[in-house]
Amino acid sequence: MSGIDDLPPLRDVIAKHGLSARKSLGQNFLLDLNLTAKIARQAGALEDCDVLEIGPGPGGLTRGLLASGARKVLALEKDARCLPALAEIAAAYPGRLEVLEADALELDPLQHLTPPIKIVANLPYNVGTELLIRWLTPDTWPPVWSSLTLMFQREVAERIVAAPGSKAYGRLAILAQWRAEARIVLSLPPGAFTPPPKVSSAVVHLSALPEMRFPADPRVLSDVVARAFNQRRKMLRASLKGLGPWVEDALLSAGIQPTERAEQVSLEAFCALAREVEARR
Ligand code: SAM
Repeated sequence: MSGIDDLPPLRDVIAKHGLSARKSLGQNFLLDLNLTAKIARQAGALEDCDVLEIGPGPGGLTRGLLASGARKVLALEKDARCLPALAEIAAAYPGRLEVLEADALELDPLQHLTPPIKIVANLPYNVGTELLIRWLTPDTWPPVWSSLTLMFQREVAERIVAAPGSKAYGRLAILAQWRAEARIVLSLPPGAFTPPPKVSSAVVHLSALPEMRFPADPRVLSDVVARAFNQRRKMLRASLKGLGPWVEDALLSAGIQPTERAEQVSLEAFCALAREVEARR
């Protein structure tokens, strides 16, 4: 018995199923079930929600989510070795845990879930940013998810919540803060994981806003911001030259000096620039 449920401690689960951690799959497991329950609580009330979890591994966070009352958890795991351990959890919570052996980059499971949907995951670091960008840039808004509660390397978490003028400010901050409320809710040292990674981690909570903060076309905004931060040391009139011969005019119309650098420009000004660019295309 483990404290949050009647299942065995995770160390025993890992030993029984031979789940030695694989670096290639970003496997740094959380074995403290009080900690996984705490992470699950950061997602708020789960009783009326379907939860999507990416990378359940041996199931520590999965158990935290189920013990916190999640209506249903759909867990996508790429490593087939974890499936028998996850089947034991499914048996302890009848009808509430569905596990798919799948690559989260290949399968879009959101359509198999019933809203409201919350996404909660201790993400494999090698695919975390890519998945976040996908969740932040669907074709329509509001998205199918109402919140994301995600573990990242501390440095990535800081990029998501960064303010203009800071070194961490960039495309991730703009895409996250444009249509969501993003904050760091928990910090974890390397020792919280088995095996410990080289860097610290943090849990970020993002709740979807019903509407974007400032009007802009998502594709144009994403394109402008990617160009601006690709050469973040350059003045915007140089980094954005490829947009068209009218770029200085567009910058001035958006209230941005062409000599400014990307990291000085607010989200509101980037949205104004995206509108000016769209009008000239
Ligand atoms: N949730 C577990 C925990 O907190 O202990 C494991 C977290 S571990 C950081 C990341 C997990 O994601 C691993 O179980 C790994 O096998 C899985 N994974 C890695 N790449 C994946 C992918 N592309 N799709 C689905 N799962 C993946």
